[in-house]
Amino acid sequence: MTAPRTVTVHTADHGDVTIPEPQWCIAPHDFEGYRVDIEHHGTRTPLLVPTACHGLAEALPVFFAWRPFSPTDSQIHAVIELDQWHEFDPAGLEAAAAALVEHAAVLRVHARELAALRAEDGAQ
Ligand SMILES: [Zn+2]
Repeated sequence: MTAPRTVTVHTADHGDVTIPEPQWCIAPHDFEGYRVDIEHHGTRTPLLVPTACHGLAEALPVFFAWRPFSPTDSQIHAVIELDQWHEFDPAGLEAAAAALVEHAAVLRVHARELAALRAEDGAQ
């Protein structure tokens, strides 16, 4: 068993702050102005959509984020980057997954309708 990793973050307001470093964290922790802004974040995993025009287009990247000194919420979150970052707890992430599955069904309906529309267009 390996010892837990730690990282020392140089902060302007609390000097050197040594904290546990989660295994999933890939964030640089050289310096942070305020200890409260220290944030761990993990690797982004995007939805990859094959496109004819731009190859694989990335959307909705999801990753873990944790601000251990946040005064409002110091829990680990999954973050999905939409138009801006939105934080999810486990139930919220399940709801987002359900929305994605529903949206996949909508895309399939659109694919069938598009194929039908193109077939009609070609028949004229
Ligand atoms: Zn970290």
